[in-house]
Amino acid sequence: MAVDRVIVAGAGLSGAVLARELAEAGLGVTVFESRDHVAGNCHTARDPETGVLVHVYGPHIFHTDDAEVWDYVNAHARFMPYRHTVRTTVGDRVFSLPVNLATINALFGLDMTPDEAEAFVRARTVQPDGPPRTFEEQALAMIGPELYEAFFKGYTQKQWGVHPRDLPAAILKRLPVRFTADDSYFPHRFEGIPKDGYTAMVASILDHPGVDLHLSTPFDGDPDAAHLVYTGPLDAYFGHRLGRLGYRTLDFEHHRAEGRVQDCAVMNFGDVDVPQTRITEHKHFAPWERHDRTVWTRERARDCGPDDIPYYPIRLVREKALLADYVALARSETGVTFAGRLGTYRYLDMDRCIREALDCARAILAARRDGAPMPVFSAPPLG
Ligand code: UDP
Repeated sequence: MAVDRVIVAGAGLSGAVLARELAEAGLGVTVFESRDHVAGNCHTARDPETGVLVHVYGPHIFHTDDAEVWDYVNAHARFMPYRHTVRTTVGDRVFSLPVNLATINALFGLDMTPDEAEAFVRARTVQPDGPPRTFEEQALAMIGPELYEAFFKGYTQKQWGVHPRDLPAAILKRLPVRFTADDSYFPHRFEGIPKDGYTAMVASILDHPGVDLHLSTPFDGDPDAAHLVYTGPLDAYFGHRLGRLGYRTLDFEHHRAEGRVQDCAVMNFGDVDVPQTRITEHKHFAPWERHDRTVWTRERARDCGPDDIPYYPIRLVREKALLADYVALARSETGVTFAGRLGTYRYLDMDRCIREALDCARAILAARRDGAPMPVFSAPPLG
């Protein structure tokens, strides 16, 4: 198919990288974004009163092992070194996350060495028959009941709105458990925060003469489009005609204060009866800046209604069955590639969005060159 013009719906990370790569290859790209800013949920904005750079839709830390992706973001932003650590409040005590030697010693009131702590925790784990299938089985198999109940059970119930025994094991596998003093949240080779924020970085990605960007303009179908790259919610593209894919949404309450309110960027709250999941204090993401005042954000999760912003795909049994039906519908469509977190209904870290967008742009260009069918998805949604 001779495609010279592409429409990209959505100017988040996936849409921006796809638009840029297709424009670099000589295609004319029109981008429609319904919000009044680019960068999707990694949008950052300076608070006009305090000057603090705020992660408007929740904390985003860039971390990756993918050298090509790291080079890509560094070509569009000045990244400052940053090492993310997290604390969690349980009862009236504060612990270090992810679970590490200090966490284990503090919870059990002991002073163990790494080897002793490992043997101690292993002795408390509960192994299921066969591989762990649920979040709860995975947690009990990895860390045993005490650590699970203190740090994961209540938090996960609040975050996902269901009991951990009804969630897949994969969610917990995102977090490391260590028996050393290393309290880095992410185990990756490259980690940093863009000095001027993610919105400036995404604006730079979109800054190409072949890209025509329309903010505050929802995509509304375009009869002339030779090809559409759609990064909005898969079910929304089809007018939710089979039903709604479940998401959790987040409520953010932003506050200003003098000085600072906590000594870390992110404080989690493990107790189920404390409504917030976490409090973010934004200036800790930019230790190279000085601010007398502060901005902090209380975050809560709940089920996503029709007018809410979708954040976390739920992907339980019901959603997976519905997803399979939408995937079949998408495969019968021509002229559309569904891309990114919402287009493929998966929870994706930022580096993964960029990796998949780069690969998807290459697949689109190869199909165009070979006269082959365009990719339907940037990555398999059911994988
Ligand atoms: N989690 C938890 N307690 C915590 C932090 C995380 O139980 O204090 C669980 C929770 O189910 C969460 C998952 O681990 O969804 C993955 O955590 P991560 O920090 O990757 O979540 P994100 O920051 O991406 O929401």
